[in-house]
Amino acid sequence: MPTTDKTKTGLSLDDSIQYVKGVGPKRALLLQKMGLETVEQCLYCIPFRYEDRSRVKKIGELVAGEQITFQGRVSEVHVQQIWRRRKILEVTVQDDTGSICIKWFKFHEKYMKERYAVGRLLIVSGKPTRSKYKGGGLEIIHADVDVSLEEEADPLDIGSIIPIYSTTEGLYQKSLRSIMKGLVDQYAPLLEEFLPDVIRRRNHLPDRATAFRETHFPPLGTQENLLRQFRTEAQVRLVFEELFLLQLGLAFKRKHTQQEEPGTPLKTRGDTIHRFIRLMQFELTGAQIRVLGQIMDDLEQTRPMNRLLHGDVGSGKTIVALISLLTAVDNGMQGALMAPTELLAEQHYMNIQPFCETLGIRVQLLTSAMSAKDKKALLASIKDGSTHIAVGTHALIQKGVEFKSLGLAVIDEQHRFGVLQREAISKKGVYPHVLVMTATPIPRSLAMTLYGDMDVSVIDEMPPGRQPIQTKRYYESQRDKAYAFMKKEVKKGRQAYVVCPLIEESETKDLKTVLEVYEDLQERFPDVTVALIHGKLKKEERQRIMAEFKAGKADILVATTVIEVGIDIPNATVMLIEHSERFGLAQLHQLRGRVGRGKHNSFCLLVAYLPLTDDGKLRVKAMMDTCDGFKIAEQDLQIRGPGDFLGTRQSGMPSLRFANIIRDIPIIETTRKEAFALIDRDPKLTDPEHQNLKIAFQEYLGDKLDFMDIL
Ligand code: ADP
Ligand code: MG
Repeated sequence: MPTTDKTKTGLSLDDSIQYVKGVGPKRALLLQKMGLETVEQCLYCIPFRYEDRSRVKKIGELVAGEQITFQGRVSEVHVQQIWRRRKILEVTVQDDTGSICIKWFKFHEKYMKERYAVGRLLIVSGKPTRSKYKGGGLEIIHADVDVSLEEEADPLDIGSIIPIYSTTEGLYQKSLRSIMKGLVDQYAPLLEEFLPDVIRRRNHLPDRATAFRETHFPPLGTQENLLRQFRTEAQVRLVFEELFLLQLGLAFKRKHTQQEEPGTPLKTRGDTIHRFIRLMQFELTGAQIRVLGQIMDDLEQTRPMNRLLHGDVGSGKTIVALISLLTAVDNGMQGALMAPTELLAEQHYMNIQPFCETLGIRVQLLTSAMSAKDKKALLASIKDGSTHIAVGTHALIQKGVEFKSLGLAVIDEQHRFGVLQREAISKKGVYPHVLVMTATPIPRSLAMTLYGDMDVSVIDEMPPGRQPIQTKRYYESQRDKAYAFMKKEVKKGRQAYVVCPLIEESETKDLKTVLEVYEDLQERFPDVTVALIHGKLKKEERQRIMAEFKAGKADILVATTVIEVGIDIPNATVMLIEHSERFGLAQLHQLRGRVGRGKHNSFCLLVAYLPLTDDGKLRVKAMMDTCDGFKIAEQDLQIRGPGDFLGTRQSGMPSLRFANIIRDIPIIETTRKEAFALIDRDPKLTDPEHQNLKIAFQEYLGDKLDFMDIL
């Protein structure tokens, strides 16, 4: 953030906290433990909640059920033994109008007795209730209490809305609050505005100094519910500036890509495409046609396409990818199709190979498991251009893979690739067009922050005739019922998947292993063909098993999560998931998406082991409640929070200090519009009015988005 140099007062936001009034070396150490060393860091450390102490009464005026603050002196302290190991701490507080008893059931006896010594002045906040004993006088259970060592209560502690900070042992709320107060009063004026006036006015944002001051110490009369929802003008301003800088980064990156990277414009809707469409066994859905239109428009531009294709599991993204790849081939260029797993790459290959053969197009599969000789030949054919479409895993972006002229790279299931890999493939050709596909629908808010530099297309329509998948839960003791259900489907001619979490018993004893389940099923159902697939098999073996299952040679496929993504076998109608409580929500949804792909009714059977954790319960419930991938993703985000949702794979995501991508979706949208419009008007931030913004932006990029080395 822009910091002024030493001002007339000699103060700077970089000042060490130790020299601030009321801190000193001892407290400075405690603050340091919390990661706070400079004034600026402290200002950024905002309260995590507030306590309304603005309604102040005398003890004699207290009524039951009303949240209230009062002050009084301790007149009596007393520990009461109830059962053998249960104690209650009772502290009686009085003022000139009466007295009231405050009770604690959980307390540290020695420490509390010292803290609430007779005669101490206490500021107490809480909700009085009527006691069940002693004639039903008022009492407060576990009140919030500040101890004042002064003769009179500090106005900071009573009569206003009090900030509550996260603190560390040895540093009282009250002390931290008074440090913060001094700091805010003294230093907030140094916080320089960097948002352009027009943007501030349009969005009703207070200036920076006011925003920080009032977020730390809300003025009297601030609505409590707004504070709680982080929606006061001051709080909104902080969220806004943070998201604005993030979006500015994305806008900047996109502008930069547009200008600096010349791509190759392609002719679309050519001969091969028409021939292919005649080969297809179904009509494209309206959504597929719309999305293809957007992609074709992009491909015709000199600026390389950078598009994210969003579409729920089974919405038919592959065909869109293939038609796009054929466009590149039609222009005498090459296409690359990358998948996150070998199995999925193999499947893509098997799916598109027959079409391409008919069309006279050469598709090749590159995997890390190839023999050196095969690999060499394949790499040569990619280099000399005789391979038109290369399919593979991340192996496709490793060193040594050189394309003659890569026109389009399609990355399937982007959520498994890091941001950097997305960039790596761009470097394989002279800036090929890039299409990124994702089937775990990322909530829009996240897509706008994470993929904010990309255009987004959405397939929001399923191919016709899809039946909603019925999801049922079975506890382990009911497994027989689940199996019976599965068998009934198999007897109707359908197929089933049984998915287990782990392959080796040694990893966790109580987990059912695939092998055990496989053997168990064979024994139970002698008249049914059971197949087994897992990640430790050789590629040829896996391919053979998948091909046989697809051809209907097996009825039940027992698998590890290797089949999680992309597998497409329309006759399979049952997905039974063992230990479903251990899977993440996105994974469960992906797995469920393996069924419901044909015209038959489909079922997802979740076998759960007790006891379920709270999160486990929520996940299973979310699965039973909805089949909508976007709703699932929102739920997932709620349950896990954004950090976990992204996992370590998405290391490009900056951490957010004030903003919350679930709570602040509307602000994400506004800041996105504002930032993109601003970069359009002033691409390099040269306008004199944007100089403070430029400094703030550079500092922001410096510590958060260093993968964007663009300014
Ligand atoms: P995903 O979006 O999950 O990658 P796929 O591309 O694997 O989905 O498509 C799922 C299934 O739907 C495949 O069997 C595919 O052939 C079929 N499909 C795709 N588009 C259509 C369509 N327009 N009409 C009928 N079936 C379709
Ligand atoms: Mg797919």
